[in-house]
Amino acid sequence: MSRWQKFTVKVGELATGHELTLPVFRFEGRDPAAPSVYIQANVHGAEVQGNAVIFQLMKRLEQLDLLGRITLVPLANPLGINQKSGEFTLGRFDPITGVNWNREYQDLTPELPQWFDAHRHLEPAAMLQAYRQHLLAQCERQLASPWGVTTGRRLALSLQAMAHRADIVLDLHTGPKSCKHLYCPGYAKDAARLFAIPCVLLMPNEFGGAMDEAAFYPWWQLAQYASNQGMDMPPAVEAFTLELGSQERIDLQDAQQDCDGILAYLTSRCVVNGSMAAKTMTRYACELRDYRKYHSPVGGLVEYLATPGHPLPAGEPLARILRPDRFGHQDEQRLLCLDEDVIPVLHFASASVYQGTELYKVMTRVTQLT
Ligand SMILES: [Zn+2]
Repeated sequence: MSRWQKFTVKVGELATGHELTLPVFRFEGRDPAAPSVYIQANVHGAEVQGNAVIFQLMKRLEQLDLLGRITLVPLANPLGINQKSGEFTLGRFDPITGVNWNREYQDLTPELPQWFDAHRHLEPAAMLQAYRQHLLAQCERQLASPWGVTTGRRLALSLQAMAHRADIVLDLHTGPKSCKHLYCPGYAKDAARLFAIPCVLLMPNEFGGAMDEAAFYPWWQLAQYASNQGMDMPPAVEAFTLELGSQERIDLQDAQQDCDGILAYLTSRCVVNGSMAAKTMTRYACELRDYRKYHSPVGGLVEYLATPGHPLPAGEPLARILRPDRFGHQDEQRLLCLDEDVIPVLHFASASVYQGTELYKVMTRVTQLT
């Protein structure tokens, strides 16, 4: 039986003085040298399924032989999760600033030429430790700014500070109406064969403000810089965003599948003792630059025809646009097609769209992951 403890982390205060807090669960491993893990869910308010996966995972972790420490944060954005309007959960954007909650993380990479020169005398392990300390100190420094930080930035930096303590970071999200897909840094492609996720987007060494990037980018930058200096130092941290189907959905049985995939990955990384086979499935991959948005060419009402996760040959319809106002004309309904083979990964959640709405996101130039 693994030991665990629960504590809370304060991430803000409401106008009424109520505290915004997160529940944090920590499972201790028995090997201090084993990699440590940080897993969070529900930073976007409507994307609740990651909580079910964390729940199933904690049930399993109680029974497993843990080597590394695992920290889990369900319900990681209390403001976003409680931001309801009618029957829907909003919670994708900070309602005050309009910023996407998953673009608030910070690139804390130091100026590498100076940092590297100052630390190159250290043994590799000590150098990595000093690098981690730099990232943590930067989090603290920004949180303590005499000018304050926005609500969204405070949440992000608080989460980032926990993530920077770990060697493995998993950020659990969902799409709107979506198949499961994985954002995977290019250097960690072998891990994509372990998760129970069929579609894989391979990310470049770039930063765009998301949690996974905030976690892996400084380490990939360091690895790149060291390599240019003739030192072999692969990135010491792996970070992924797991998109676990559609928003506004809890499915505990399906969560078990993703829990098994995460455990297959964690056993391969010697965080959990034992061996756990990866699920056999066809996995598709493309580079992030080939993961493309399709915007509706017209406004209207949408019948979504292409099923997320199913390959769609060129010329087959993605969706039909219905325009009752154009009854009797040629454009009373219109099929929307692409002239190349794609795999639709997700589509807009609503059946009515403006011209220009991001209707589908599709993988192009797809290869099979073997
Ligand atoms: Zn999300």
